[in-house]
Formats: sequence, structure tokens, C-alpha cells
Amino acid sequence: MKAAVDQELCIGCGVCEGVCPEVFQMNDEGLAEAIKAEIDQEVLEEAKQAQTECPVEAITIE
Ligand code: SF4
Repeated sequence: MKAAVDQELCIGCGVCEGVCPEVFQMNDEGLAEAIKAEIDQEVLEEAKQAQTECPVEAITIE
């Protein structure tokens, strides 16, 4: 499974990094990025929770 953040949609709220820092980190522009090519199984639930909690639905996991 891979995560991606749509930079056009992200508002930089930081929720995803707070929920799952193993996968999401804020970049220099204050927007979130997926830092892993593949999501480790141990953090998949957290990554999905971050996707659910993103207020603008900028995160895709597939
Ligand atoms: S939760 Fe959504 S809007 Fe907030 S930083 Fe993450 S991707 Fe961006």
C-alpha cells in the first residue's frame, strides 16, 4: 500500500503527521508529504486513520 498527499488540497493542518508520523511529515512549504514509498504493515491502521481524519480528504492510500 502506498500513501499520497494531494498538495493542491492539503491545508497544512498537521493532523496526519500527528496521527501517523511514520508515513506523513510536513515539508518546508508547510504541507504534508508521504515520506515512505511503501506503508509498513504496523502503521497501516494509523495511516488509514490519518486519511480519515484529514479535513480536506487530501490523502489517498492504495
Ligand atoms: S491532515 Fe490533510 S490537510 Fe492536514 S496536513 Fe495532512 S494532508 Fe494536509
